[in-house]
Amino acid sequence: MTKHIFVTGGVVSSLGKGLTSASVGMLLEQRGLSVRMQKLDPYINVDPGTMSPYQHGEVYVLDDGSETDLDLGHYERFTNGPLTSGSNFTTGQIYLKVIEKERRGEYLGKTVQVVPHITNEIKSCILDLGGPDVDVVITELGGTIGDIEGLPFLEAIRQIPLDIGKENCLFIHLTLVPYLRAAREMKTKPTQHSVGQLRQIGIQPDILIVRTEREMGQENLEKIAMFCNVEKKAVIEEVDKTLSIYEVPQGLVENKLDQLIVNKLGMVAGRLDMQEWYDMLNRIRHPEHEVTIAVVGKYIEHRDAYKSIYESLDHAGFSHAARVIIKRIEAEELLEQGPEVALAGIDGLLIPGGFGMRGIEGKIEAIRYARQCEIPFFGICLGMQCAVIEFARNALNLDGANSTEFTDSTHHPVICMLEEQKKITYKGGTMRLGAQPCVLEEGSLARRTYNADSIEERHRHRYEFNPEYKKQFLDAGMNISGKSPNGLLAEIVEIPEHPWFLAVQFHPEFKSKPLRPHPLFRGFVEAALEHHQQRAPVSV
Ligand code: GLN
Repeated sequence: MTKHIFVTGGVVSSLGKGLTSASVGMLLEQRGLSVRMQKLDPYINVDPGTMSPYQHGEVYVLDDGSETDLDLGHYERFTNGPLTSGSNFTTGQIYLKVIEKERRGEYLGKTVQVVPHITNEIKSCILDLGGPDVDVVITELGGTIGDIEGLPFLEAIRQIPLDIGKENCLFIHLTLVPYLRAAREMKTKPTQHSVGQLRQIGIQPDILIVRTEREMGQENLEKIAMFCNVEKKAVIEEVDKTLSIYEVPQGLVENKLDQLIVNKLGMVAGRLDMQEWYDMLNRIRHPEHEVTIAVVGKYIEHRDAYKSIYESLDHAGFSHAARVIIKRIEAEELLEQGPEVALAGIDGLLIPGGFGMRGIEGKIEAIRYARQCEIPFFGICLGMQCAVIEFARNALNLDGANSTEFTDSTHHPVICMLEEQKKITYKGGTMRLGAQPCVLEEGSLARRTYNADSIEERHRHRYEFNPEYKKQFLDAGMNISGKSPNGLLAEIVEIPEHPWFLAVQFHPEFKSKPLRPHPLFRGFVEAALEHHQQRAPVSV
């Protein structure tokens, strides 16, 4: 029988519910249990695919092509259970399913209502993730207790213990205990209120995880336990981690959260082995080197817009015992300042993915500078398209070369939509989405770096390298080192003459984990470290 853990959040948003849920998943996996993670988002958009990165941060893409919430990125970085379209549901998706059933007449003329029809649909989305090979499903509820739109989800999870047995369910509630500087006191009242609201709905949390700025002390823990009707040992404090998000699981282990969950759910689990993880934390705490990587993008001020890219750079740093300093640069500002000023002192340049024209010229200018000054360069999706445009304009002298995403009047559409390919590769709409195979050319940097002759990576884009220009690019020194198996699509380009210049049409950042950094990120950071040493041999 699969056990179900529900994670809710109270008091304020942005408490790191996703990270905490992912950490819980990780601890249970480390104890030998098979875990599935899931996020339920109360907004009405069917998926985050069409939401602005300013509003929602990065759209995280899964192997099966689902466009999901960025918390699923945390899940994949911390845990190993497979994630699929069943791992992220929104209110919009739930209503869509119910309305489609209603149109097909499946409700046999009954009045279709939030309770039971919407709540039943939510319950089946949760329970469907269980199965004979799954020990635990962890379902994280987006939003904060008290939000109107979260109510159907809370009602659904309230009912689940009645359906599958109380002993198979566990409710974890994450709250905040703020420190009031003026009163020099920590305040437990918001937590009491938040749990009070949950209990009104009929949910009694089994475990409280309490985020705090500083240690809370026994008295406060006891107060929370009593007022919230939770055992004292089930009030777990999670003191802010300032160095790295990868420290979160350690704090939870120190508070014996894994054992508490295993006991409460009556599970048989193995011993916890965190050695490899703790070795990594050690490397994070005591870096031996330092590199500066510039990320030039359009949504730079939004911390979460390039979340997986920043994480992947960090992972690569961990494996080299290096601290990666990320310099975020707004593409339009780079154009104003000029690349010599904006990119002064960097060891590597990364251009991430994106949509739309704003900032394109700044990115192209940054790439020109990195190519000509032999600074390691890594382009991702739109970053590869910009590298192709830059090379066409400045190395092939194709004036005004561009992508047809930005103009339809260019004489040199080096990036364009391939109509024929669209029918074969693109699922549903016009977007090429999800994991696709790629064959790596012998002797290339890509093949050496991956140490493989074929790979699978996740895509999310519409436009492609225009194969009509292939020969001109090859002749001028830009190779296509990764191709789709039919040889038609350019997936990776590189410049063999350059110390490290590689750009990919896919999104490698979705497959990097702290203990298994993505080979391309690792290779890029290694090249940046070499650049750093050459640049300032005595400063390390
Ligand atoms: N806008 C480009 C395209 O649609 C790149 C997309 C991306 O970077 N994810 O092809």
